[in-house]
Amino acid sequence: MKIHSLKSGSKGNASLVYTDKTKILVDCGISGKAVKTAMADIGFEPGDLDGIVVTHEHADHIKGIGVMMRRYNVPVYANSMTWSAIMTNDLGKLNDDKIKIFEGVEPFSIGDIGIKPFPIPHDAAYPVGYCFDDGRCRAAVATDMGFLTEEVFREIGGCKTVLLESNHDIGMLEVGPYPYPLKQRILGKLGHLSNDDAAKATEFLVRMGAEKIILGHLSEENNYPKLAYETVKFGISKADIAVGRDLELLVAT
Ligand SMILES: [Zn+2]
Ligand SMILES: [Zn+2]
Repeated sequence: MKIHSLKSGSKGNASLVYTDKTKILVDCGISGKAVKTAMADIGFEPGDLDGIVVTHEHADHIKGIGVMMRRYNVPVYANSMTWSAIMTNDLGKLNDDKIKIFEGVEPFSIGDIGIKPFPIPHDAAYPVGYCFDDGRCRAAVATDMGFLTEEVFREIGGCKTVLLESNHDIGMLEVGPYPYPLKQRILGKLGHLSNDDAAKATEFLVRMGAEKIILGHLSEENNYPKLAYETVKFGISKADIAVGRDLELLVAT
């Protein structure tokens, strides 16, 4: 099983999780055309997708789902509260037979990939992250979290690969151009993880057996890839964890 980030950041998110048999998109906050271009880079096309699993209803995660349902007949999975919230957005006509609803964080599977949603602290109807299991290894997508709960750690601990939020540098956010209420939202318990938070999470995940951490959902205003990478690398070095020796550290842009 592999994870490939097609696009990551506050402007739009979509990650491909795939095996030889099954291809799943986690979120689709980019246009159908952008999905097509990004999938073509690795030799796939949108028609290959067996499903899209949605973490929550914010625009940067769902903008493209209507097109994917209509043009490529891709089923879209979300829990019932998230689907209710998605319906309040104008995404064009959504094919009823492609709407797949699960309850809360109930596990399900698509093809040969088992999927376990888990709750995340974020300001949406019922936001979740996802763990994927193909019977050989586990991987997780964990972004859009105000802080790391014990439950999140329990769910993603032991995954070999984690796409982990590293949204902002706290200093850049504090002195940056965002209005005060938005800064408070991002820094709050239902906002987003900082680079420092990502470093702490990476230390935990490596101790639990993670081999590859992909930092994602970087803010364009309050972060940049080298800063996220260096902050996490420096943070874990204090716990004697070295990039290259103990893990592969990547940044999804
Ligand atoms: Zn969000
Ligand atoms: Zn987001």
